[in-house]
Amino acid sequence: MPHDNPGGSAGGPEEPAIATGIPAAGREGEETMADVIVVDHPLVQHKLSWLRDERTDSALFRLLLGEVAMLLAYELTRELPLTTATVRTPLMETQAPFLDGKPPVLVSILRAGNGLLEGVLQLIPTASVGHVGLYRDHETLEAVEYYYKVPEDIAERDVLVVDPMLATGHSAIAAIERLKRDRPRSLRFLCLLAAPEGIEAFTAAHPDVDIVTAAVDERLNDKGYILPGLGDAGDRMYGTR
Ligand code: URA
Repeated sequence: MPHDNPGGSAGGPEEPAIATGIPAAGREGEETMADVIVVDHPLVQHKLSWLRDERTDSALFRLLLGEVAMLLAYELTRELPLTTATVRTPLMETQAPFLDGKPPVLVSILRAGNGLLEGVLQLIPTASVGHVGLYRDHETLEAVEYYYKVPEDIAERDVLVVDPMLATGHSAIAAIERLKRDRPRSLRFLCLLAAPEGIEAFTAAHPDVDIVTAAVDERLNDKGYILPGLGDAGDRMYGTR
């Protein structure tokens, strides 16, 4: 892989089959099984390869993560409802489509979630933002909550939870569990990389919540890291190791 042009073109390995189109999930009364949607757009895969590369420094890592977040969010928002309103162009009046309803709530699982959050916010600047703080107990690998703040009207909103790595799934499962207590209108989960073990645990715990990811990797190692993965996303973002 060339190392001088992360925005340019280069071939990449084949990815798992994609399901495109993002069905609504988690709405009251629905019993649908969760979908796992792998966004194998060439730009996403190319940028992901640069994110994996250990030589990619924090500044470039954050930039690429934001760009991938935008591309994933583009897929994810493909079915947002539209309404029409009258617009006067320089030539004539027309009925033009606009997004309908309240903008979604983006919930970042701290701290690495913030890397995806910033990118999604660039695409949906009117979104509100919530944060869930969870740390991973290194003995049990379980998630422990230390912070929770979401918009007051979350019960009337569609929620998109963001965290780059779906590894054991403990953090994501705990975050969604906590959010469900506030009964948002719908919930979806956006990550960069998912391990098969994380997907299995997540869909078992939350069969009503779709997962959107750039790739499904091979497996977890005995420390709960995704292989081949990209290392610790938070450390890669902030240069803390
Ligand atoms: N969290 C990370 O940042 N990386 C992994 O591989 C697993 C969990």
